[in-house]
Formats: sequence, C-alpha cells, structure tokens
Amino acid sequence: MDRKIEKSLSARAVELGKSGKAEAVPELVGLAKSSSCNVRRLATSALGKLAGIANSADVVPVLSGLLRDPHPQVRQYAIKALSSYGADSATALHDLHDISANPSEKEYNRADSVRSIAIISEARRIREEQASHKCQKCRLSINSDEYARSMKAFQRIYCDKCFDEVFLKRRNFDTEVELNKTIIAKDGTLVQSDGERIISDFLNSSSIEFRYDERIRIIDGFAIRPDFYLPEFDVYIEYWGMDTADYKIGMLKKQKLYQQEGKKLISLHFSEKSRLAETLGKKLRRYMVAD
Ligand SMILES: [Zn+2]
Repeated sequence: MDRKIEKSLSARAVELGKSGKAEAVPELVGLAKSSSCNVRRLATSALGKLAGIANSADVVPVLSGLLRDPHPQVRQYAIKALSSYGADSATALHDLHDISANPSEKEYNRADSVRSIAIISEARRIREEQASHKCQKCRLSINSDEYARSMKAFQRIYCDKCFDEVFLKRRNFDTEVELNKTIIAKDGTLVQSDGERIISDFLNSSSIEFRYDERIRIIDGFAIRPDFYLPEFDVYIEYWGMDTADYKIGMLKKQKLYQQEGKKLISLHFSEKSRLAETLGKKLRRYMVAD
C-alpha cells in the first residue's frame, strides 16, 4: 500500500476510535479489512475503545474474526478489545481459550488471552448470577460493564466514578512533570531535556507524527508515560536521560514491561546524545518497513 494512503487511513482509524461515536463502527469494520496490517491494528484498537458506546452485536463478531488475522499484533489488539466488551464477548471465549493454549502463538498473545478470558468470564458471571463486586474505593456495588472497564485499565475493581477519580489523580502527578518542561523544540513543544529536543526536532523534520509525553497510556493495567509515541508505527521511544541507581532500576522495569507486552520500543541513552538523531533514524527504519 502507498505510504501516504496508509498514513491517512491510520490517522482516520485513530480519529474514529477517539470519536466516542457508535456511528464510527461501520467505517472501522471496513478499515479492519485493510491490506495494511498497521491500519487493521489501529482499527481493531479503535473498535475496543468504543466499548460501552457501540452495539456489541456489531463489533464482537468482527473482533472474533480478527483473532485469526495473519498479523500477531492485530490478533493482540483483538484479544484486548474483546475484554472491554466484557460479558458480551462470551461468544469469543472458546477461540480465546484456543489461543491461550496454542504453542505456536506469540507468548504475549497467549498471556493476553488468559487475561481477557478472566475478565470476560467474570463479567459474564456477574451478569448471569447478578453476583456483585464492590468498588475497592467506595464499596458500592458495580455492574458487569464497570467491572470489565476497570479491570482492563487498572486490574482493580472500581465503579465508574472512582475510575475517573483515579484517572484524574494520575493526571495531577503529570502536571508536576509539566512544570519541569523548559526547553522549547522547533515546533514549540516544551520538553524536559536537550536530548528530547533533538528527538522532537528529528521527528518533525522527518514528518513523523508523534505524541510527546502523553498523559496516560495504559499497558495492561500499568499506566506508563512514554517519552514519545509514534501512532503510525505503534512505536514508543524512551530517552534515558540519567544514570543514577534509582533511575536505572526504573528504566529496567519499564523496558521489561514493554517487552512483556510485545511493544516496539526504541531506547535511546544520553551517552548517545552527540549522534542521537542519526541513531534514532537508524533504529526507526527497522519499524518503517511494512511488515
Ligand atoms: Zn467507587
């Protein structure tokens, strides 16, 4: 597929996922059949984001079909997206069990299937038996949709109200980081270090779309703040700007998390600062080849 077309379809899928509108479903279903695996992956992720808004009967069968996509990352997003439809995804449980037990499936997909099975099964149990779970914060009873939503995001049980509060609290932590941003990149983005400025300028001059220090990106219950995220390629960039012991431990933990989740991570270290743009370009090229 032409790079330009792929880029615009990718952006469209992301936009539709953010729209919060059930009307976006038919177009996303179309995009999920694209010949580009990147477009299919983003469309699948977007369908997951519309859980609670879209009609499950329109989406769950499509996501179930995507469990057989030839590309492992498309399957991964389908596995995760199904869990956000909670009890409505019960029809996919059989296929998810097959994936979790398939020795030739990627390890991260097997692990994600196990997690999705647990969420969907429990959401179904809550619905069927009208069994109740209590919010861990306010102790109010929650329904099966709240269960699926909070378990997928935080691996904790929160009612919708407390879910939003937890989100906000993490955001407040982020404002502190915001105050440390004092260096201005060419496009006006405020960044925290010289290294980040070089990265930001490089991405801009290469016309690569990126999000810098996005407030919250959830990798299966862990809220991580990647330095840069490139939505077109689903690639994360972390710039490790310090060398203290604490920082190194944090760095290793974070790297392991990316690895476990099968995420594409480009690690850049401040010792590479003099050739940062060149190193980034080289590492990025590997992910820019359509797979
Ligand atoms: Zn609550």
